[in-house]
Amino acid sequence: MSDTKILVGGEWKLGSGKLIRSINPANGELITEFKGASLEDVDIAVAAGKRAMYDPTWYHLKSFKRAAILSNIARLIHRDVDKLAALQTLDTGKCLSETKALVQSAAETFQYTAAALEIQEGELPPSRGDFFTMSVYEPMGVIGAITPWNSPIASDAQKLAPALAAGNAVIIKPAEWASLVSLALAEICMEAGLPKGLLSVLPGSGSVIGDKLVRHPDVKKISFTGGTSTGRLIAGIAADKLMPVSLELGGKSPTIVFEDADVEHAINGILYGIFSSTGQSCIAGSRLFIAAKIYDSFVDKLVARCKALNVGLPNDSSTQVAPLVSFQHRDVVANYVEIAKKEGAKVLCGGELLQGQPYDDGAFYPPTILSGLSNNTQTCQEEIFGPVLVVLPFDNEQDLIQQANDSVFGLACGLWTQDYKKALNFSQKIAAGTVWINTYKQFSIATQFGGVKESGLGREKGRNSILGYMQQKSLYWGLNQEPLSWADPRSK
Ligand code: NAD
Repeated sequence: MSDTKILVGGEWKLGSGKLIRSINPANGELITEFKGASLEDVDIAVAAGKRAMYDPTWYHLKSFKRAAILSNIARLIHRDVDKLAALQTLDTGKCLSETKALVQSAAETFQYTAAALEIQEGELPPSRGDFFTMSVYEPMGVIGAITPWNSPIASDAQKLAPALAAGNAVIIKPAEWASLVSLALAEICMEAGLPKGLLSVLPGSGSVIGDKLVRHPDVKKISFTGGTSTGRLIAGIAADKLMPVSLELGGKSPTIVFEDADVEHAINGILYGIFSSTGQSCIAGSRLFIAAKIYDSFVDKLVARCKALNVGLPNDSSTQVAPLVSFQHRDVVANYVEIAKKEGAKVLCGGELLQGQPYDDGAFYPPTILSGLSNNTQTCQEEIFGPVLVVLPFDNEQDLIQQANDSVFGLACGLWTQDYKKALNFSQKIAAGTVWINTYKQFSIATQFGGVKESGLGREKGRNSILGYMQQKSLYWGLNQEPLSWADPRSK
């Protein structure tokens, strides 16, 4: 058992909850095992968060001073980029280049949010009577931030930065498979001057610790990123509590290659869109529709390029496809490919476990391309969350729209065409929170992100993200020279 401590209500302590075993998926070795939070820890963290949040030293802290703490956090994340990236790579198996980018994105999120907070203003609507009115924004209370394992530090930052900027206390419930970097981020927040008690990090199981957090009467909002079935469960509990939630959920995003697409650009974008992060990405472009006239030649080139991708150890700078997060998840992905074969899929590449070293020891799965399936198969309808791409030809654009939208999800879409009118037209007809045109999987903290349909509720990022963690209050200031007439005896 390691001495890894968890942060509960401002105190670092050994957990007394469920045993968490962090396994390096690249070789199956145990990194550390430690006890996570207990149910009692949730109560302690919420009570401490509430106290710290209403403490005048935080509640009345001028927003530019809160912004200075966020900037400090950004600076310290930059300082520790190598350490934080290495930790995530060890815990999740993601390529070092990817985990570095995630750490940088977390730092940018804090920096951007600090800047947005400095210039945030209330509103003074024009007067419509003997009064003037103000809209002010206040913190909500204790916020529960529940995050998945696939981009841990970036997901934590996207919730933590705006929720703290808004003046709230935050309790992070990280995923069991990737708790270590959330604890490291909490250490940085404390070093940066965040008052004690405002932040807790409670590793533990979702159905126990996460569930208790969602149901806690003093938790006033849940910001969740994860699978759609978990999101639906949380939304149900929130409905009973009449508590706001924001939900960033799963996807099964279509990518469309039109006849006039720049083939080289499209192939690069498609490979990156599905196989980077080993396909463990909510916005992975997992259904690829290709114009029938170019289908055969395009698929030949795509498959050849896919076969040349470098599957290897996450610390190796030449690796493009690293292991999956766990052996358990690798088996889920492999099982999906077996289902696809039963559904009649032709395996164009991948589709079998790789043999030899380092593959025998790690949770590897090769980039896989499948054809011969229709869009209504289980393989095309369910999120696999792994390196599996299905290619489908289309020759009728009306039918294409119908198929691309025939999914319970609506997270993202990619369009490859040189015809800007066609791109605009399709971007309007596709049900998705993000549409990439002649690019894919590019992000900006300044641009909002979220899904439609079963891919989510609410948006993260952008300068309005802070308002997502605030409640608006209206103030009316009377300017009457005379008493209000209704009850005034002189007006009878
Ligand atoms: P998950 O839903 O299993 O778990 C996510 C988090 O919820 C974890 O911390 C987990 O412990 C917790 N949890 C599980 N059950 C819970 C419960 N009953 N109550 C409260 N909390 C609970 O998802 P995952 O496997 O960790 O992540 C993969 C999923 O996340 C994929 O579906 C992916 O598409 C989605 N995702 C979405 C986005 C987005 O921005 N839309 C980003 C990343 C990942």
